[in-house]
Amino acid sequence: MKKRALVAMFLLFTLSLAGEDYRKLLDRTITAESYERTLLAVSSLPHPTGSVAQRDNTQYLAERMRKMGLQVEVMTFSVPLPEPRKSALYWEKPGAVSFPMQEPALLEDPFSESREALVGFNAWSPSGNVSGPLIFAHYGGKEEYEYLLSRGVKLKGAIALVRLGREYRGDKAALAKKYGLAGVLLFPDPQDRGFRVGTVYPEGNSLPAGGLERGSLDTLPYPGDPLTPGRPSLPGQKRLEKNPLDGELAVTLPISYETAQKLLTEMSGERAPEAWQGGLGTIYRTGDGVGAKVVMRVENKTVERAVYVVVGKIPGKSRPREVVALGSHFDAWVYGTTDPNAGTAVVMETAAFFADLAKSGWRPERTLAFVHWDGEEFGVIGSTEWEEELERRGERVVLTINEDAAVGGPDFGIVATPGHRSLLVRYVERFLKEYGRERFSLKIPQKFDVGAVVSCGSDHCAPLYRQNSGVFAFWSAGSYGVYHSLYDNPLYYQRFVDPGYLYGRDLSKILAGTLYLYMEEEGGEAFDGADLAEFLLGELASPAWKPFFEKDGYLRLKRALESLKGKPAWRGAEAGRVRGLFLTPQGAPQGVWARNTLYEQNPENRYVALALPSLLRGDERAWQEFVRLFEGLAGAGDASGRP
Ligand SMILES: [Zn+2]
Repeated sequence: MKKRALVAMFLLFTLSLAGEDYRKLLDRTITAESYERTLLAVSSLPHPTGSVAQRDNTQYLAERMRKMGLQVEVMTFSVPLPEPRKSALYWEKPGAVSFPMQEPALLEDPFSESREALVGFNAWSPSGNVSGPLIFAHYGGKEEYEYLLSRGVKLKGAIALVRLGREYRGDKAALAKKYGLAGVLLFPDPQDRGFRVGTVYPEGNSLPAGGLERGSLDTLPYPGDPLTPGRPSLPGQKRLEKNPLDGELAVTLPISYETAQKLLTEMSGERAPEAWQGGLGTIYRTGDGVGAKVVMRVENKTVERAVYVVVGKIPGKSRPREVVALGSHFDAWVYGTTDPNAGTAVVMETAAFFADLAKSGWRPERTLAFVHWDGEEFGVIGSTEWEEELERRGERVVLTINEDAAVGGPDFGIVATPGHRSLLVRYVERFLKEYGRERFSLKIPQKFDVGAVVSCGSDHCAPLYRQNSGVFAFWSAGSYGVYHSLYDNPLYYQRFVDPGYLYGRDLSKILAGTLYLYMEEEGGEAFDGADLAEFLLGELASPAWKPFFEKDGYLRLKRALESLKGKPAWRGAEAGRVRGLFLTPQGAPQGVWARNTLYEQNPENRYVALALPSLLRGDERAWQEFVRLFEGLAGAGDASGRP
């Protein structure tokens, strides 16, 4: 064939793909079979960060993406991480035996027989041999400790039984330390996750009596390697000499609700308030701080571990240093079939679609990267080190799609950062109609719930807090009861999360289709000021802002946001410039690491974030700068000032 004819054929082929044929490609490349293949390949063995199974997963994902034709890079960071050597809890009396710190094997579930599963432990808990009288502190918040003190319960040296949930577990361990407690025992109350919610596993999907919730207690004001804030954990990079977490936390262990019940029935003291009574069918007493004593023996040793990040890329044709990242972490406390590896499978399905598109000559304007992050469970480590390394290379993440634990059941949901949500909804609706109709209950929330997406509980944290990257997440939720336990495994997933892998398949199609249109029509970079304004106006009306209601700056800010609501979205380089206006080079207000002035993690509960934190603190200069900035964006003045 002549060269000209070849070029013409090639053009025709790519044009047809850029038109409607990509839908056929979606159906061909994204299947329940390949979704299942990935999911079982990465989650049939326990694979916490640093394990041999996780190293094998790294090679597997890299190899699969290479075969797809993506440009693959495996980054290896070296990070000191805690490893449990001893977890024990027993009554302080002669001959007492330890309560179980391993979950029991269940007859029908061969995965639960693993000897490789990590014992119950909390990463970053200090080691220690502590003994003390038991007290019960409900969810372990400030108001609960103050109540106990007001009732004359002695906290100093006591060991607190604390219910999981409401606040982040690390904040519970830090607060207990401040009140002088010797130790914390964290348990899931069956009202939240056990037999009071529904039939327990293996007959149903609720947490069985012996289940444990492992988890990190990291409460540092930055994610990632505690020793290298702002720098990738690579050879030659400067390290802090001491982990700033040392001395900040009480000795902590996770226990089952079966163990909690045994402890509660032995406790003395007065009956705890009505609101503190849980689902264990026993009276919850406060303890008196002098009654029956328990002993905790915890030994967590810090070991240097490899933390891997696997990247498969399609380089951008006009702005290759600007990255749209679609990823999920792939490390798990045990099997992690739902959390996180349903996300791993979604990323791989989407990658397969785009890799095929690229084979036909398609190129995005900006680089599209499919990323598997390790070390998330210990404190969002792989993604943080990856982002810091990209910065060092002069690359910038403009959009992050985080698919951590993407598939959980029939309720389809999306969430996005203010500034991106309206754009996302526009594209996602087209595919929801097509692929979601029978499968999902289709509820696109009309109101923002940005709590999770602007807090730092997962891998979108570093791009959002350091670069003001946009964030999307797609998920399907259900009643998933086995979070961070041995029972989040392939059998549970098949039975109760996604029988036939159809939620996983269809979610991947909706995501891939949406991302394709977003890359084609927005070039991967857009920012909707009206959307941000709507969110901020909602925040400004909340009670936390009451002290400022009469302030001149407050009224001007509101007026500017109101007029911003009528403006069209920014696109391309201009969108990047506007996003950049919210970054401060000095690292304020959150300290050394974060640069985003729009949000801050609530230091008392890392599950939620605050908007415009410096204004809430009454910082006069910040008030002036933000008012000027938003007036500028609304077209009423000078936009050159940085907040
Ligand atoms: Zn996860």
